[in-house]
Amino acid sequence: MERDCCDVAVVGGGINGCGIARDAAGRGFSVLLVEQNDLASGTSSSSTKLIHGGLRYLEHGAFRLVRESLLERETLMRIAPHLVRPMRFVLPHTGTRPEWFLRLGLFVYDAMAGGALPRCETIDLKNEPAAKALVEAGYARAFEYSDCWADDMRLVLENAKDAARLGAHIVTRTRCEKAHAANGEWILDLRAPHGEVKQTRARCLINAAGPWADIFLCAAGCEQSAPKLRLVQGSHLVVPRLFDGDKALVLPNTDGRIVFAIPFEEKYTLIGTTDRDIKGKPEDARVDDGEKEYLLNAARRFFGSAAGESEIVWSFCGVRPLFDDGKTSAQKASRDYVLRLQRANGAPLLNVFGGKLTTYRQLAQQAVSRLPLQGATKNKNWTAQKPLPGGELPEGGVKEVARRLCDSNAQMQQTHADRLARTYGACAQLIFKPGDDWGERFGADLYAREVDYLMRAEWAQTAEDILRRRTFLGLSFSPAAAAELDGYMNARRSTLQ
Ligand code: FAD
Repeated sequence: MERDCCDVAVVGGGINGCGIARDAAGRGFSVLLVEQNDLASGTSSSSTKLIHGGLRYLEHGAFRLVRESLLERETLMRIAPHLVRPMRFVLPHTGTRPEWFLRLGLFVYDAMAGGALPRCETIDLKNEPAAKALVEAGYARAFEYSDCWADDMRLVLENAKDAARLGAHIVTRTRCEKAHAANGEWILDLRAPHGEVKQTRARCLINAAGPWADIFLCAAGCEQSAPKLRLVQGSHLVVPRLFDGDKALVLPNTDGRIVFAIPFEEKYTLIGTTDRDIKGKPEDARVDDGEKEYLLNAARRFFGSAAGESEIVWSFCGVRPLFDDGKTSAQKASRDYVLRLQRANGAPLLNVFGGKLTTYRQLAQQAVSRLPLQGATKNKNWTAQKPLPGGELPEGGVKEVARRLCDSNAQMQQTHADRLARTYGACAQLIFKPGDDWGERFGADLYAREVDYLMRAEWAQTAEDILRRRTFLGLSFSPAAAAELDGYMNARRSTLQ
């Protein structure tokens, strides 16, 4: 039995848990984070990947949330410019909402933002290559506005890596099965991958279990006082590119919702999302046929048969852990977060309910500030200033990182360098140094050198960890190549430990 006592134990290695671990470690607290599966294996790798204010939340009167999210958008662009990229969104006039109403909404949206991105403008769709299909579908005019696209899972990983660099102990594939409060401290039962249970102690406990937050509260014996989560499933489809250019399209649907069609990984378009209340276990959520049909129909209105079921190359779903504010429709339920501090036998437990990828840093900052701990040394706003790993880009940004990679590695292809620069930012140059042996190639442009790095520095243990949650290379890998990668990683694990 381990009897060490840390200041903060965080349950959940999604964006909120990893953001909290980074913030707390950087303020000088001793931190343990436990994740039952792989980091980002819950909702945080299955979002629509937008760092945005949420234009449509204005319709629901969520002005504070939109304002906070828009300001956060600018902070995240600054601290993770390799992962959070500006994108223009084209919103056609389809008549589902009056033009003056959209114009007003976008004016307010721009006014609430800090001004780092180009403002909204009215455009003629005929001059817009991305919108050829919209013109063919009979639409002539649109608004264009700014938001950001983000690599959600890499954002989780970079937070975890920085937390570890600052001294946090990050433990994956370990489930916090039980939490028991005694003498003002928590005693946690942690089940490791091979089934053994270890105990550890913590002065404060943070429940950042996302969609599993209610279930974890039962494990901590605190369920009676818990507010309920509303679990809302959202699904996405990935199909071959439906349109040219680097702008996203916002497709108004006949039911009043909107569906995004977003350029994704050079060759693809990401279509999403749906909003569906679910009652079962979060881990059982699957993209169902009704959701596929809904998203394909939304795309077919604009792209015709190009958006067919046989075109789907990947589909994924996530479960939004929304705070249950009693709203009738899943779409209208608030995307805001709620932090609840409670005590059991004098031991503090902070629960995180709801939230958005966009607001994770703010959430983390507020969560750590609410912990009844003495001795914090650092400025509580430090995470707004210090770039995440890889985020200190040279002038010229990721393009310059890619250029330097090609210059210093004669055999590196441009597309390979571009992917590495987008994925790891400035850290790409530490992974691929001049003269390094890259080792075996497994598929696409994945070499043993990168695999070893991901196993050593990013807690990757299986092919899926790499192909699905640290890169998007799963889109280019055959099952046989993935199996070969798994074989390599199995053999490598013992030598890297
Ligand atoms: P999670 O990422 O689910 O992390 C919780 C983790 O806790 C999991 O990894 C789980 O395995 C672990 N865990 C649970 N129980 C235990 C235990 N007992 N012991 C150890 N570990 C445990 N937000 C945006 O800002 N922009 C978007 O475009 C956007 N799109 C979205 C689209 C969809 C379809 C969905 C579902 C959400 C979207 N969001 C978006 C919201 C955003 O993705 C979530 O708010 C965020 O990912 C939640 O992160 P989390 O850390 O709370 O939860």
